[in-house]
Amino acid sequence: MNTQKLTIVIPAYNEEAVLPSTIQRLLAIEDTVAAQSPATARLDLLIVDDGSTDRTWAIIEDAHRQNSRVRGLRFSRNFGHQAALIAGMQAAVATADAVVTIDADLQDDPDKIPEMVERYADGADIVYGVRNNRDTDTWFKRTTAEGYYKVLRLLGVDLVPDHADFRLMSRRAVTTFLAYPERNIFIRGLIPKLGYPTAQVTYKRTPRLAGESKYPLRKMLAFAWDGITSLTIAPVRLILLLGTLSCLLAIGMVTYAVVMKLLGLTVHGWSSLMVSLWFVGGVQMISLGVIGEYIGKLMTEVKGRPRYTVQTVLD
Ligand code: UDP
Ligand code: MG
Repeated sequence: MNTQKLTIVIPAYNEEAVLPSTIQRLLAIEDTVAAQSPATARLDLLIVDDGSTDRTWAIIEDAHRQNSRVRGLRFSRNFGHQAALIAGMQAAVATADAVVTIDADLQDDPDKIPEMVERYADGADIVYGVRNNRDTDTWFKRTTAEGYYKVLRLLGVDLVPDHADFRLMSRRAVTTFLAYPERNIFIRGLIPKLGYPTAQVTYKRTPRLAGESKYPLRKMLAFAWDGITSLTIAPVRLILLLGTLSCLLAIGMVTYAVVMKLLGLTVHGWSSLMVSLWFVGGVQMISLGVIGEYIGKLMTEVKGRPRYTVQTVLD
């Protein structure tokens, strides 16, 4: 392997409390990376300021003045964590051989980056950071997150458990990812679709260094909803299933109503009402489900995702 360059992309939204120490710590791992993977000679940081209203950008400018290995990119307003990550990857891939994304609060262990680089040197295009504990999350966040990922997997979405957005990607993996042009995006759900050799490093997630979470409940819910609706049309299939069940129930209802009528236990008009209630309801739901299927197809067409990704060509 020739000399490789690694860029660490850091999304930051009102992170003045942690950013200076984050920058110091990330720059400091260069020596470890160089010692473990001599091929990776250069490392720089690309901090994406996601429309912060505090001193975040001033801190980035200062750091850049002192050290040209700190680069910055500033959004005109707050576009969100995922947009910041994508912008960072897009800018980084122009010069980097591999890109690591990590949160500004360093809840994900930066000391694992050298290990990620090693896995990359061994041939992995995507190295997932996977946390082996959730002790530092509140009970609420832990339970809701675990439940959410279970639901996603039930709906058929392929996810790496306990992995968020701490990962290393090779240039070709980033390039392939950027070819997915969709706007509603849940990055961690899309990465497993790329293919390519992958690896994992596990780490212990620690509490935020300073400042508070930039993901209030409102943003978290919106993010979770985006995850489901951008990755699967399984909820629509559920409507179809419910409709079919309702129609089946209508058939059962016919039998029940006939028996009740023969026994003389019904009021006039009850049987027809009961049967049509379930039947018409079922037919309506099936119709909605069918329309939903077409909308789902429309959604995949509109996304314009690549049909395939070629990994190797023998010519
Ligand atoms: N972030 C961002 N834009 C936002 C919200 C968050 O760029 O609108 C960044 C934030 O600065 C941090 C990362 O996304 O680097 C994760 O946010 P946070 O640590 O607050 O989330 P939590 O760990 O609490 O889920
Ligand atoms: Mg955090």
